[in-house]
Amino acid sequence: MINIAIDGPAGAGKSSLSKLLAKELSYIYVDTGALYRAVGLKFSRFGFDTSLQGDIDTILEDTMLDIRFIDGAQRVFLDGVDVSDEIRTPEASMMASAVSAKPVVREFLLGMQRRLAEKNNVVMDGRDIGTVILPNAQVKIFLTADVKVRAERRYKELIEKGQTVSFEEVLEDMKVRDYNDSNRPIAPLKQADDAVLADTTNLTFEESLELLIKIAREGISK
Ligand code: C5P
Repeated sequence: MINIAIDGPAGAGKSSLSKLLAKELSYIYVDTGALYRAVGLKFSRFGFDTSLQGDIDTILEDTMLDIRFIDGAQRVFLDGVDVSDEIRTPEASMMASAVSAKPVVREFLLGMQRRLAEKNNVVMDGRDIGTVILPNAQVKIFLTADVKVRAERRYKELIEKGQTVSFEEVLEDMKVRDYNDSNRPIAPLKQADDAVLADTTNLTFEESLELLIKIAREGISK
């Protein structure tokens, strides 16, 4: 199977670009952030905040997570219910970032991600795909952009979805998440040694997609 790993900070355009790259190559697109978001949602429902004080192990033991592809699009099911839309709020982002720092949560999600990549040609995006989950991926891309540009893109996205947020709030959230994701002791966000860096700060969406397709095709044909 061909595995393409795409890592990078929040708002770099990973999901939208990975989705289109997968379509171009006729691969499955796996958004691993959605898994952390769903676990975060489960903890919120149990009254946890981002300090995650409480018995995490017991709740995880009682958590059923499932990825299904409906009309080619990934849907995430938490305990049998489709939560794919509910996990897209700023609160869910912060909870995802918090739970993702817990080794037991990463362990819980590791097998699931690897199995998907063993059985399918995938474009998988996340934070530790090239470094931890799929160290042997044929193509690894580290996708990034300046934090202000990323916050602006995310702000527009949320406003278009009808959410009430300010740009300052989005920028601040992004800086906090960047910091947490890059500084956690386990599986921190970092570029794999053999990953190709793609900085999209000065690129349009179409240019970024072209760049990714070029890197992927070159990597696959090696
Ligand atoms: O990619 P997305 O913004 O949906 O991810 C939400 C959060 O999940 C990230 O901020 C990060 O903390 C965590 N995450 C992770 N490892 C991944 C994917 C996401 O730690 N592979």
